[in-house]
Amino acid sequence: MDGDGNGWVECRRGHRHWGVHGAAGLLLHAVDDAGVVRLLLQHRAEWSHHGGTWGLPGGARDSHEDVVGAALREVVEETGLDGHRLRTRHTFVDDHGGWSYTTVYADTPAPLATALNRESVELVWLTVDEVPDRPLHPGFAATWPQVRAAPTTLLVDAANVVGSRPDGWWHDRGGAATRLLDALGGLRATTVRGPDGGARVIGSVVAVVEGAARSVPDPVWVAVLRTPRGQGRSGDDVLTEAAARLVAEGTTVLAVTADRGLRARLTDLGRPGGPTRVDVVGPRWLLGLLP
Ligand SMILES: [Zn+2]
Repeated sequence: MDGDGNGWVECRRGHRHWGVHGAAGLLLHAVDDAGVVRLLLQHRAEWSHHGGTWGLPGGARDSHEDVVGAALREVVEETGLDGHRLRTRHTFVDDHGGWSYTTVYADTPAPLATALNRESVELVWLTVDEVPDRPLHPGFAATWPQVRAAPTTLLVDAANVVGSRPDGWWHDRGGAATRLLDALGGLRATTVRGPDGGARVIGSVVAVVEGAARSVPDPVWVAVLRTPRGQGRSGDDVLTEAAARLVAEGTTVLAVTADRGLRARLTDLGRPGGPTRVDVVGPRWLLGLLP
């Protein structure tokens, strides 16, 4: 019944927690006009448990709810956001024994305006790097290194991905590339599980095209790099140069290709000790995200 989750419980680790059926919060990401990934944090009201700290909007789960439903209900109450505009993704469960907290990954294309209720002093869209600088709720601080979603630029070898899907692309390479790029635009600002299982949030998408696909129209939300004709530079060269440039800017790159030679070149860019890594994943991972 409504509100039957409200109450204190002691977990097997000896902590006191709010939520007799456990609790859930929303780790909500968006991408701002400058292309920077942001997430919504709540500055908790002074009267609340661990008042004055920062954490995720959320709260206790009622017995009839699933965790995603509970997180959404609490977030709508606490932020005034329209739940229909929030896309929920995978979850992370922090199980203390006798009580658990579920982080629900979610995203929305842009940082939306919020409205405070009495549980919050402020609601702020912070960058991922700004989060540890705030005085965090101890439970959130403990899981932050595990739940943190790495802002990532997706760098797509479009010819390789198109060629990996036997959908008749050989009849119309330009059309197949156009369809792929349109679908890629929908991945901006989405929170996904990376190839290593860790959470990532896609801040931007860059695609390299070549050959017959060079003249595809510019899609929304995808930066297209067109391999020049007859200058001795291949699509692999263009993609490797782009990856090097992004790494130099401090961007974390996830490159999508099954091409072994290209994989080796990209892996060399991301040698340990560098400021960021280039991870490489095959087209199947990407195709699993597309409609
Ligand atoms: Zn506990």
